[in-house]
Amino acid sequence: MHLRTPVFIAFILLSSLSMGLRAQAAAPDWRTPAEITSYRTTPDYPETVAYLDRIAAAAPGTVKIENFGKTGEGRDLKIVIVSKDGVFDPAAIHASGRAILLVQNSIHAGEMDGKDACLSLLRDIAVTKTKAALLDHVVLIFIPVYNLDGHERRSAYNRINQNGPEVMGWRANGSNLNLNRDYMKADTPETRAFLKMFHRWLPDFFVDDHVTDGMDYQYDVTFQADDSPDVAPATARWLHETVTPEVAAQVNAAGHLAFPNQIFLNDEDDPAKGLARAGNEPRYSTGQMILENRPGLLVELHMLKDYKTRVTGNYELLRALLEVVNRDAAKLIALNREADAAAAKLGARPNNEKFPLEVAWNGENTPTLFHGYQYTRALSEVSGAMWVSYRHEPWNATLPVATGVKVTDSVTLPAGYIVPPQWTLVIDVLAAHDVVLRRTTAAWTGKVERYRCSGMQWKDAPFEGRHPMLDGEGGGTQPGRFGQCELTAETVTYPAGSVVAALNQRLSKVAIHWLEPEAPDSAMRWGFFDSIFEQKEYGEGYVIEKLARENLAKDPALKTEFEHRIQADPHFAASPRARLEFFYERSPWYQENRIGQYPVGRLLSLDGLPLQ
Ligand SMILES: [Zn+2]
Repeated sequence: MHLRTPVFIAFILLSSLSMGLRAQAAAPDWRTPAEITSYRTTPDYPETVAYLDRIAAAAPGTVKIENFGKTGEGRDLKIVIVSKDGVFDPAAIHASGRAILLVQNSIHAGEMDGKDACLSLLRDIAVTKTKAALLDHVVLIFIPVYNLDGHERRSAYNRINQNGPEVMGWRANGSNLNLNRDYMKADTPETRAFLKMFHRWLPDFFVDDHVTDGMDYQYDVTFQADDSPDVAPATARWLHETVTPEVAAQVNAAGHLAFPNQIFLNDEDDPAKGLARAGNEPRYSTGQMILENRPGLLVELHMLKDYKTRVTGNYELLRALLEVVNRDAAKLIALNREADAAAAKLGARPNNEKFPLEVAWNGENTPTLFHGYQYTRALSEVSGAMWVSYRHEPWNATLPVATGVKVTDSVTLPAGYIVPPQWTLVIDVLAAHDVVLRRTTAAWTGKVERYRCSGMQWKDAPFEGRHPMLDGEGGGTQPGRFGQCELTAETVTYPAGSVVAALNQRLSKVAIHWLEPEAPDSAMRWGFFDSIFEQKEYGEGYVIEKLARENLAKDPALKTEFEHRIQADPHFAASPRARLEFFYERSPWYQENRIGQYPVGRLLSLDGLPLQ
């Protein structure tokens, strides 16, 4: 008893104290999981969804959560819809004249700043309503975590370059594929689900939130609007003259420091040499947006800033962008309508304009004030090369920034493409992209243009689970260039069931980029047509011996060529097989191998095709 009495009294005191606290704290705690730990941690997916569900339950007239597919490991991909009046139907929203802004987070799941920023923004719009006015003319939809399987592969050792939080997800998906290289080829279930979701909602503006790698500098927020000659000119103007400067100014006014460009050094060993241009091919989310005729914005928070600075910086960027899109909603919707209409006219005849397939820096720099950090360059006894070490003292210098762009490859466009039905994987990717496809109902013989390609080389090491063709540029570790594709007009028979993709549709550019062999992420480059480069029939030595003797006897020019080759080429002279192949390769039997004959036809007209 002696002992128990004080314990009992203490218990009563504690109970009444905690009841008092509870009564005082009647207002629910709406801090996000990251806010609760002062940004020391980021929530895993169940905790993220629990917070989202709590908000949806508190604001059912504003917030709805939908599943839009499953990851490779079977998790449910979710999208959060935030609509001021409880209208959650895409068609009804489009009809209301409101713009739809899609924010994608955690495609690289170790870069989850945008997820935690979106949780705060959602709370401020739907619960505390301090930011409710951002939705007057906009419906916000966001993917809290896109690379979900990567997100749940949590470790403190996933991102060596990054300053927090304590544990984070992994860059690639459950099959170790980088989803931000998969948009065009659509190998993963996540990409396939994304495309279906995207076309259900058909957003007016797309944002992809990341965290950088690369150099150290003062900026915490960097971002880049689509940069390609293939973005509709009016859209590009609005992005560069309105969206970019206004977002940067608002982010800066909120106490962050924004740079409206991706930051890649021309020379990793020497920041003074300035900034390079980043590519935006259709393998990337924002490159895909160009094919979708929609503006895209890539956001990169700086990896070395603390997690609170990064999440709040991402928040301010999204808030600022919502303000601009909310104000300019009608203009944005009109721009997209025009861009869709222009894409649907790409196959119209006559069309002598060249369509850009590949772009590169044209050598033009814009001198730009850059807020970097002081650095020293020294010879490293570790690497044996120069290395850069930064110290956190401002280095404000005017640097050359690569801004000019030129078209390095372009094509005149056909009216459409015809793909023989046996190329099922190629067709399947077009279907996954929701390109409108029509099958022929009977065999069709007609005039098309076809490519004959040669000189291709392939990557030895895998890249994104494939061995794509070498392209000779763009940071490849293996030298080698894309071969040659020559176009010829031919009369060809295509079997019934062949697939026609006409360039009279909103997604014409998807068909072009997938089916023009020289496009940077074409089916050809990714290896979907590798088998056309294989020789399938060979001549036996004793059969070729006979052919060789007959042809040498009757063709003096062939005899001269053969003898010259033996004298000029010792490898050839020393190889019995090569010497026999010389005769096989100059025979009609070899021609029947049709090596490099690209089977897709470029249709000059859709007239007369027996289509479904
Ligand atoms: Zn990233």
